[in-house]
Amino acid sequence: MKEFDAIIVGSGPAGSLAALVLARAGKRVALIDKARFPRPKVCGDCVNPSCWPIWERHGLAERFAELPHESLRGISLELNHKVIFKHNFVLSERGERAVEREVLDNWLCHEAQEAGAHLFHGVRVDGVDTKGEVKTTQGLFKGRFIIGADGRNSIISRLSGLATYRQTCTRVAWQANIEPDNLDHYVHMHIFNEGYYGMTRTSEKTANLCLVLGSKANATPQKIANRYFPSLPSQVWRSIYPISRRAADLGRGRILLAGDAARVVEPFTGEGIYFALSSGEAAAHAILKGLDANDEALAQTLYSDSHRALYKKRARVNTFTNWCARRPARAVRVLGLLQYWPSSIATMLNQVHQSRPAPIPHAVASA
Ligand SMILES: Cc1cc2nc3c(=O)[nH]c(=O)nc-3n(C[C@H](O)[C@H](O)[C@H](O)COP(=O)(O)OP(=O)(O)OC[C@H]3O[C@@H](n4cnc5c(N)ncnc54)[C@H](O)[C@@H]3O)c2cc1C
Repeated sequence: MKEFDAIIVGSGPAGSLAALVLARAGKRVALIDKARFPRPKVCGDCVNPSCWPIWERHGLAERFAELPHESLRGISLELNHKVIFKHNFVLSERGERAVEREVLDNWLCHEAQEAGAHLFHGVRVDGVDTKGEVKTTQGLFKGRFIIGADGRNSIISRLSGLATYRQTCTRVAWQANIEPDNLDHYVHMHIFNEGYYGMTRTSEKTANLCLVLGSKANATPQKIANRYFPSLPSQVWRSIYPISRRAADLGRGRILLAGDAARVVEPFTGEGIYFALSSGEAAAHAILKGLDANDEALAQTLYSDSHRALYKKRARVNTFTNWCARRPARAVRVLGLLQYWPSSIATMLNQVHQSRPAPIPHAVASA
């Protein structure tokens, strides 16, 4: 049996940052992921500016800055082929960037490895118990603490009884890397009767297109995408489910959940990576205190306090976007009204980005 101070399941942003913090503090860390990296991940690839202070805190800003990326200029909110709101981000070296998740996640887990974490990629976790034993396809691991950072379908949350199996979400996200005719540096968020899409430039020629569709949307992602990008050839679509679900309990005993495993935010806000990094960081700091004091309850209390404070900051924006997005028809109606009250959209947007109005063209360039 392999023994560690902390076993982290999932080497997405939450797990890798937690592993880096713990390893740099001299702890023995196992960072396990069922995938072999680099691996693709259904995501809009937008890294919000709130991530910069996190990179800086951990001396990662310069290396993050060197990753292949596109600097994003602003956001264009579109409703049924029409731009209804356009804002420019306040230009900054430390602004919003599009970085492909394949690149971002591969970089960050190797930073954790460089810090001393032991990477186990291509190893699936199948079981966990309250004594800290983790069953994997490469045998048993034992940890003083365990972080479930295994994403929105977290097996750790379910096996430890921190989340229920019942799923009520009827929406699915689809993603493809496309080569559209018109490519600018805006994040295009387009709302329509079956759901919404986000399109972001990821390189000189390519863009990431993510569609979030209700399962009753009697159409394939390709068909809906062709409505807005008529010349789009047939794509290979990756999917992910569920889009929203109830938050899990944060932890129990020696198990803590971080990132999407604990709580998902509506993809529309483009802030999941920020929350994953922040909660992974908070879980690691709580575990360091718990290890020092040999006190699991202390780690749980500290983590629960910082997690609550973290999500409280954006609670209203997240609740509102989720309320709209769960029913596309409702989102279309609400946005149709809000276009006559642009200051309300600007207020919400400014909670996520600092931005200012930009001129609105008469039609969506890509429609
Ligand atoms: C359509 C869509 C668009 C989005 N766009 C954005 C965006 O533009 N910007 C943004 O900030 N956020 C976005 N998000 C949210 C963002 O993708 C997530 O919040 C973020 O990836 C969460 O990171 P994580 O580390 O918690 O989990 P993940 O990144 O999901 O990583 C979990 C890891 O756990 C591993 N794993 C799972 N099960 C096991 C197991 N049994 N054993 C071992 N390993 C396991 C997986 O292989 C994976 O590598 C989007 C989400 C969706 C659905």
